[in-house]
Amino acid sequence: MVHRYSPVNECIYCKETTPPLDTEHIIPYAFGGNLLLPKASCRKCAKIINKQIETPILSHEWGALRAKHRFPTRNKNKRRTHITVYEKDGAAKKISIKEHSTPVPLYRFKQARILSGAPRGDDNHHFTMSILTSHKEEMAMKTEVANWNQKHQFFAQPLPFARLLAKIAHGYITAELGIGTFIPLTLDLILGRTDDYSMTVGGIWDIPPPVPGGDHITDIHMLFASSVLALVIVDIRLFSAAETPCYHVVAGNINFHRPEHVRAFEKHKIGGKIKHIPLGST
Ligand SMILES: [Zn+2]
Repeated sequence: MVHRYSPVNECIYCKETTPPLDTEHIIPYAFGGNLLLPKASCRKCAKIINKQIETPILSHEWGALRAKHRFPTRNKNKRRTHITVYEKDGAAKKISIKEHSTPVPLYRFKQARILSGAPRGDDNHHFTMSILTSHKEEMAMKTEVANWNQKHQFFAQPLPFARLLAKIAHGYITAELGIGTFIPLTLDLILGRTDDYSMTVGGIWDIPPPVPGGDHITDIHMLFASSVLALVIVDIRLFSAAETPCYHVVAGNINFHRPEHVRAFEKHKIGGKIKHIPLGST
């Protein structure tokens, strides 16, 4: 079911107010996301996001899986129908996407550095990759594709994936709390002005069990950094029915000396959407 928030009437990334402003899918349309934020992105920012974030992740990493399971797409004609695999002697062979096990890389992140207090430069092993795949489909592919070298190849792209999480989090708190009700912390990352993703984007290293029938999960909570400042954290788990990791994005600050921040905070506290959690338990 689609949920449409009120139109923002300015770009949530660069504050541009001149039309045209497009509707933002908070979780990408290509992932079946159904939270819509109308009049929320200018063409310039949308282009950066499309080229640097959505294309590497949604088209390249997830393209085959999305085509096989017929996820929503705006380019039905461009859906992949075949994939090249390699045989044991190195020869290339095209097989139908239906025969392919279409694994996707998943990134596991450590806690965001802003929460753990780790200094810059200490982010060497911030991520690891695991592969989301079906054992059954993998076995079937081994049987059906004679001479297959039984290898999948992936390029690690944690940065565009982290930027995708930051984009989801920024869109979600803007939709829920309202524009101007917090100080954003991820805009430089989303728009490519920094590649330091591990400062604000992190996760829980161990993958929790799947949620039967689960969809994408987004939730907001706050962490009090001092008596006047709270960090706004968005928890994200994509495709929770599968063995996918839980992430968090430290998407903004709320300053309790600013009335517009306090109003949003109070409103959402009443709505029960904000959990108070003690420092250090994130
Ligand atoms: Zn913009």
